[in-house]
Amino acid sequence: AGGNRLQVFTEQLRVPVQEKLAAEARVRRALAGDPRVTLPLWFQPVVTTGTGRIAGAEALVRMRTPEGEILTPYHFVGAAEETGLIVPLGEHVLRSAVDHLRHWSDRLGYVSVNVSPRQLAEPDFVPMVAGVLAGAPGLDPSRIVLEITETALLASTVDVSERLASLKRLGVRIALDDFGTGYSSLTWLKSLPADIVKLDRSFVAGLAEDQRKASIISAVLWLARSLGMSTIAEGVEELSDWEALKAAGCPAVQGYLFSKPLPGPEFDRMLRESHES
Ligand code: C2E
Ligand code: CA
Ligand code: CA
Repeated sequence: AGGNRLQVFTEQLRVPVQEKLAAEARVRRALAGDPRVTLPLWFQPVVTTGTGRIAGAEALVRMRTPEGEILTPYHFVGAAEETGLIVPLGEHVLRSAVDHLRHWSDRLGYVSVNVSPRQLAEPDFVPMVAGVLAGAPGLDPSRIVLEITETALLASTVDVSERLASLKRLGVRIALDDFGTGYSSLTWLKSLPADIVKLDRSFVAGLAEDQRKASIISAVLWLARSLGMSTIAEGVEELSDWEALKAAGCPAVQGYLFSKPLPGPEFDRMLRESHES
């Protein structure tokens, strides 16, 4: 396969392909409205570091199979990406996220959705977002955050900064997802009109015991703040890491320490409880 890579095609390698085809067929069915396969959103809270209150939520798509299994994006987003089905899937995710936000309007500040490189490259992406916003009159568009990864920049043939500028003109906010894991993090910061930096969990896990990670986090927080961006630390699992982030001045955090992603009704319950306390 070039370089030192040797690829051997065996019976085993056909399994993932078949799995992919099955996943693709199911995404197609779900988008066509088949009630036996659905693509519900689960929600993970983003917590204000100082107060511990829920500031917003990230919407994460799941697949509910006809057998009642819940699949994570790992099992179907890649296939949807390859076939282009990610485009209608992404529209479904945005519409559904906006519906939920309207329902939780007085209890939830914002909702963020993940946007794949393929979606961002679509000529119709900006008009699609505008159309969804038009269907939600009265909703402040800044309460919708679009999460973009650095790979979108690398993979894209369109002018990403121009596209993001068009999105910002609609009033939505932009977050740089998995920040620090790509090859061009500083290029991103220099050229892209983002509002939020989401610091990847590889910098966050074990932060309390790792002086190098702590130094990197402090520097990124400073850099983001200087550029007028907010920072969310992802993948916070340990109390000690949360405390270290708080001490470093990180404004918001997300991770299993506070909550795993929850199905809509459970997230609703969590919002009600946190609102009462
Ligand atoms: P992501 O955007 O980086 O989302 C965060 C992932 O980390 C989620 O996995 C979440 O469940 C997981 N996570 C959250 N807190 C913790 C923690 O404390 N520890 C650990 N170990 N993990 C944590 P999930 O839901 O399986 O999603 C995986 C990826 O799939 C997402 O990564 C995102 O890139 C993609 N994805 C999810 N929903 C969508 C979608 O609607 N559209 C697109 N295009 N991609 C999506
Ligand atoms: Ca994300
Ligand atoms: Ca992330």
